[in-house]
Amino acid sequence: GDRIVVKVGTSTLIRQNSKINLEVIKELAHVLSTLKKDGKDVVLVSSGAIGVGMGVLGIDKRPIKISKQQAVAAVGQAELMQIYNEAFHEYGMSVAQMLITRDIIDYPESHTNVMNSFQELMSMDNAIPIVNENDTVTVSELDHHTKFGDNDQLSAIVTNLVDADLLIMLSDIDGFYSANPLKVPDAHLIDSINKINPDIIAAAGGHGTKYGTGGMTTKLKAAELILKHNQQMVLTNGKNPDVIFNILSGDAVGTLFS
Ligand code: ADP
Repeated sequence: GDRIVVKVGTSTLIRQNSKINLEVIKELAHVLSTLKKDGKDVVLVSSGAIGVGMGVLGIDKRPIKISKQQAVAAVGQAELMQIYNEAFHEYGMSVAQMLITRDIIDYPESHTNVMNSFQELMSMDNAIPIVNENDTVTVSELDHHTKFGDNDQLSAIVTNLVDADLLIMLSDIDGFYSANPLKVPDAHLIDSINKINPDIIAAAGGHGTKYGTGGMTTKLKAAELILKHNQQMVLTNGKNPDVIFNILSGDAVGTLFS
């Protein structure tokens, strides 16, 4: 397709030792810049603000208090964007920070404004929009009035909004398995899913790492939104972001939801 959204998860961006995975970010910048130069419209949805903030502030455990999470995210978001900006500058690209909230769904004016911004940014030759939820404004994980819930669903909503052909979701696992491979060692990769039925939902276990958040449950919710809009989503491992080139050239990679 000509318009793609890429979502990168915390577990891909942050190493187990709390250090940011610069190699992944540099490669992501290379791949997305190349696609952009090829004339594709590219939007990146990036998690990682809390994880990066924890590293910057020297915090070991993800804070439980929402206000603390918001503060840590605010620190991490600035650091993360600086790192992305440097990485993309190598390829002559600048990054555009788009911090959004559920308002873009609930309020027509906000919806129009964000659509205009996306449109304008995508028409530029050298700007890559990087989207995240505005953590300091959204109140709590449970407050559905303001919060998307997580970046998995946010990335699906963005894919719907900008009418992209494809959402590529990069995680720390090769795709969707018949069960959580951390718990069920002989679980197998499912290469194609056309419907999110109760069996599939039951196969989604918890999250894998101390930094990961939604696990597969939120990825399935995202996939549901994608299927509802007749769009496609590929879930795969982000450890080598040039896998995006393989996906776009039609190789069977990870799990295809279509
Ligand atoms: P991210 O930070 O990329 O959003 P998460 O840690 O939230 O990643 O989710 C990925 C994790 O989900 C995997 O590492 C895996 O442990 C877990 N998981 C649970 N159930 C499944 C399943 N059925 N197939 C694949 N992974 C699963």
